[in-house]
Amino acid sequence: MAEQSPASMEQRLRDELQRIAEAIADAGQSAAIVELDQSSVGRVSRIDALQQQAIAQAAGERLKLRQRKLEAALARLQAGNYGICCDCGGEVEARRLNADPATPFCGECAAEREKS
Ligand SMILES: [Zn+2]
Repeated sequence: MAEQSPASMEQRLRDELQRIAEAIADAGQSAAIVELDQSSVGRVSRIDALQQQAIAQAAGERLKLRQRKLEAALARLQAGNYGICCDCGGEVEARRLNADPATPFCGECAAEREKS
């Protein structure tokens, strides 16, 4: 597989960051909508509303984690150490970067982390 140029990786990271920012805004909105529902007497019971809010918040948390990961990858790109494993300092396989441009670890270190 041809190696991705840093510019195209940066574009992929920025595109995904853009989508994540929109998804975070959406998740924040659904959490806010649930709060409105609680103050009105609607079909949705308070417990359902709280559950929905928890789901929206959990989704928002996951998105924010991904956002941080993407921002960290962009920072590495700008610092010139993109594609260097954050754990062992070795090279991250092009195949892994291609599958996930934000991946901070080489295959070996990622597998090691999954075990522990
Ligand atoms: Zn490593």
